[in-house]
Amino acid sequence: MSEIPYKIYLSENEIPSAWYNVRADMKNKPAPLLNPGTGEPLKAEDLYPFFCEELSNQEMNNTDAYIDIPGEVLDFYKMYRPSPLVRAYCLEKALDTPAHIYYKFEGNNTSGSHKLNSAIAQAYYAKKQGLKGVTTETGAGQWGTALSMATAYFGLDCQVYMVKVSYEQKPFRREVMRTYGATVTPSPSMTTNVGRKINEEFPGTDGSLGCAISEAVEAATSQEGYRYVLGSVLNQVLLHQSVIGLETKAALDKVGVKADMIIGCAGGGSNLGGLISPFVGEMLRGENQYEIIAVEPASCPSLTRGSFVYDFCDTGRVCPLAKMYTLGSNFMPAPNHAGGLRYHGMSTIISQLYDEGYVKATSVKQTDVFAAAEQFARVEGILPAPESSHAIKVAIDEALKCKETGEAKNIVFGLTGTGYFDLVAYQKYNDGVMDDYIPTDEDIAKSLSQCPKIG
Ligand SMILES: *Cc1c(COP(=O)(O)O)cnc(C)c1O
Repeated sequence: MSEIPYKIYLSENEIPSAWYNVRADMKNKPAPLLNPGTGEPLKAEDLYPFFCEELSNQEMNNTDAYIDIPGEVLDFYKMYRPSPLVRAYCLEKALDTPAHIYYKFEGNNTSGSHKLNSAIAQAYYAKKQGLKGVTTETGAGQWGTALSMATAYFGLDCQVYMVKVSYEQKPFRREVMRTYGATVTPSPSMTTNVGRKINEEFPGTDGSLGCAISEAVEAATSQEGYRYVLGSVLNQVLLHQSVIGLETKAALDKVGVKADMIIGCAGGGSNLGGLISPFVGEMLRGENQYEIIAVEPASCPSLTRGSFVYDFCDTGRVCPLAKMYTLGSNFMPAPNHAGGLRYHGMSTIISQLYDEGYVKATSVKQTDVFAAAEQFARVEGILPAPESSHAIKVAIDEALKCKETGEAKNIVFGLTGTGYFDLVAYQKYNDGVMDDYIPTDEDIAKSLSQCPKIG
């Protein structure tokens, strides 16, 4: 198959003109969001105070398989898409595997990750609705960076609550956001009620994503002309990220290759959901079979060790309840966990697909993840984000299994971003001082015991 090029490029006019909504093909839809006060299912209108109207409608849309990508979003996509699908010939050679490995590389934009695909869509709908600005949280900073690029493009204000430990440890990410005009506040802060409360309850806390979400939601609902936006987990985000999977499928089709196995890292589930959507759609419609693997960190294992229950999406418990694989909204990964993917829950779509067996999951230790990251960097050239390296680790493992069995499987994985801002973590790994903390069953049972009792 040497005629397959190293990089399978699509042309600009092969960028999909519509996102694919996998929920339309799911027989069992993801469970509805519930009002945390009344326990009643939410309607799109109930979300309007928090999210832009069009995004609220997308959040609730279980019926339209395709939703047109607005022209202005498509124009922005053209600046950095289509992203390449790369045949990892050098990695295959280094592993001496009969497997054929492909990766979809989403790190070719300044924000360095796939998050820009949804950020630009969300900023567009905010602008269209005539809003002044948006608020959000960011953990490691990729989402905040992507969103600040998108809001700068549409001339919107952008207020970012950044998990305190990242704010302090990743000053350069913060500066990128400020360069694009965003205001960045370390969370928990003293600027919101919920932030003050969390600071009082947990003095000196490093913060968490769940806590920054609560602050950003409060900031949005307490300011005229602002809405909250989120970079993962939500149905609307998976919808926007379907551009990854649609392009991947188009590129594979172009060279006549059928994927056998599709691997993605899973934090909140957006890149994985976007990558696999068109393929899962074929499975749901009975047209094709794929083996799909979600990879999560052993230190934050929501799919592999969590429960499929209704839970709060945030620590401050101001957001709707979602039925998802969760570790409990109070779960905090160990502070020495450097690899991202630290959200306590998982997209309701991925959760449902996992529950029904369409998606499998595995967890990996961070030292193994960084070993895979370095192995990949040294042969394929790209310095991968730690998050993406979870997928690399499992792709390598699967390719090595093929070596034993002699199978020439087509393995496709999502390389979601670059790791230039994660060099403190790489330094720890290189210095041999990175360790693995895996939560005990008691740790997980304790945080799960605080989930609301529903159904
Ligand atoms: C945010 C991020 C992830 C994880 O988020 P998902 O919503 O699970 O995709 C993975 N890789 C990179 C580079 C990220 O920035």
